[in-house]
Amino acid sequence: MSDCIFCKIIAGDIPAHKVYEDDLVLAFLDIAPITKGHTLVIPKIHQESISAVPSEYQHRILEISSKIGKAFVRTQEYDGFNLHLNNGQCAGQVVPHAHMHVVPRIGTDGFHWNWRNLEYKENEIEELLSKFNEKFSAS
Ligand code: AMP
Ligand code: ZN
Repeated sequence: MSDCIFCKIIAGDIPAHKVYEDDLVLAFLDIAPITKGHTLVIPKIHQESISAVPSEYQHRILEISSKIGKAFVRTQEYDGFNLHLNNGQCAGQVVPHAHMHVVPRIGTDGFHWNWRNLEYKENEIEELLSKFNEKFSAS
């Protein structure tokens, strides 16, 4: 898509620090990293939602993301990594071209996900899963 910043990076029209590239995916350093080494892995086709990305691209994104995380750990600069994907504006997606974040981590990096722990009310799980199962089997 011509006005997509990540499509422009794929086309080489704007610069990026390339980490990995093959026929299906491109990986490059995030311009505003959570930790040093924070990398984005994107499919080489324009789709906003990961669920619209063909499965061979989805598989390659996960395979390469975990390989990149593992390679950063093997540098001995990190102890682990997060794989993180924002799907949809309400979920924090800013760039409308599907992408996986690979965030190399060490315990002292001072970053914390803003996690919380809700509780389900009575029957809420059954109602939720009943609606979900209807749609999941139909998808
Ligand atoms: P998200 O909020 O999941 O859509 O994340 C978009 C990410 O893209 C952010 O972490 C940005 O820092 C990153 N980003 C935006 N523009 C560029 C760019 N030109 N090169 C590298 N990373 C970028
Ligand atoms: Zn795009």
